[in-house]
Amino acid sequence: MAHKRLVAVRIDNNLCVGSGTCVASHPAKFAFQPDGHAKYVAEVPDEAAAREAEELCPVSAISLVFEEEEEQ
Ligand code: SF4
Repeated sequence: MAHKRLVAVRIDNNLCVGSGTCVASHPAKFAFQPDGHAKYVAEVPDEAAAREAEELCPVSAISLVFEEEEEQ
């Protein structure tokens, strides 16, 4: 059976307005870059936190990238 695993969290800099919602809600996972856009900084993707930030982002700039893997 196929299982989806979160492999990356992307932030579209063309959409991000620097609201800081993702950084405020998950400061260990998101941080501001010098240009004012947010960046995902967690080494291991955290699906629950990423999904919550995706839902909270006011401009839908956050997207989650999944990879299908077979169950062992
Ligand atoms: S919540 Fe969205 S708009 Fe706000 S800083 Fe994060 S990515 Fe940018």
